[in-house]
Amino acid sequence: MTFSSEVKAELSRVMPQKSCCAAAELAAVFRSEGIVFSQEEKSGRIAVALGHPAVARKVYRLLRAAGCRVTLAIGKGRRRPPTRAFHVNVTGGTDLLWEKIRDVVPGGVGIPEQVCCQRASLRGFFISRGSLASPEKEYHLEITLDQKGSAEWLLACLEALGLEGRLSRRKRAYVVYLKESEQIVEALKLMGASAATFAVENIRIVKGMRNRVNRLVNSETANVDKTVNAAIAQLDAIRLLQERVGLDALPEHLAVLARLRLQHPYASLRELGEMMHPKVTKSGVNYRMNRLLEYARKLVEADEQGPGSARRNILPTR
Ligand SMILES: [Zn+2]
Repeated sequence: MTFSSEVKAELSRVMPQKSCCAAAELAAVFRSEGIVFSQEEKSGRIAVALGHPAVARKVYRLLRAAGCRVTLAIGKGRRRPPTRAFHVNVTGGTDLLWEKIRDVVPGGVGIPEQVCCQRASLRGFFISRGSLASPEKEYHLEITLDQKGSAEWLLACLEALGLEGRLSRRKRAYVVYLKESEQIVEALKLMGASAATFAVENIRIVKGMRNRVNRLVNSETANVDKTVNAAIAQLDAIRLLQERVGLDALPEHLAVLARLRLQHPYASLRELGEMMHPKVTKSGVNYRMNRLLEYARKLVEADEQGPGSARRNILPTR
């Protein structure tokens, strides 16, 4: 089962406690299926095709509880590729339901005034036309609607609940979506999907922790790389000096450091300083190491200018 369908199954078990909320949720289901609450449909038949069996059962139960005559049948969906759909048909007793919906949805077009009903409306839209990406992959909740009016109704409802819904077009459809993890968690909470809220929060925490650990590891790796590269450059310079002029030709304090580096290729400058007698601070070692590197560099430069007494020109007298 996809995450989306798990959430729908959970929300199908959330039954509205008040009749205002039941009307608001049904209104949202109808609205998402393109049904508006006009006078003509007051006595007419209503048919909605739902993709999720638990959702169809919930809508069926809500309609029955509202006093409607309802049938539930399995058939083909309207969408392509053709999928299974659960057809809920209301064949009678809609008058009372329509009245209740009009009480909650002002004038048949406005959004419900009470927060409990706004939350129920959001739930109705989601169970009917919503989908939610697995939070392991990405944070994306969307509700795909066929009509602009329905999309605007949903956007107004989201705004009333303090959520920032966004609208985009996909082929002929209107897609209302939420992107940030905070928004999705909030929407799930408002709809009453406690298990899904917990699951997304959990993944969010684990993801955050993983990112922090990765950042730490990366920065440490970068530091290690820097240290290793520096040590290699130092060893190259010291070996050059050793071959060309001999370490004995260096001032004593530099010769000591050069020998220590050759013996301990992987030691840090601080560690090298602690091996000296008397001990030398990291910055002291750094200063001496730079002198060694400088001599080596001058030696190479002198080579480039032609063979000569590099030693006399470059090295200080002892
Ligand atoms: Zn309510």
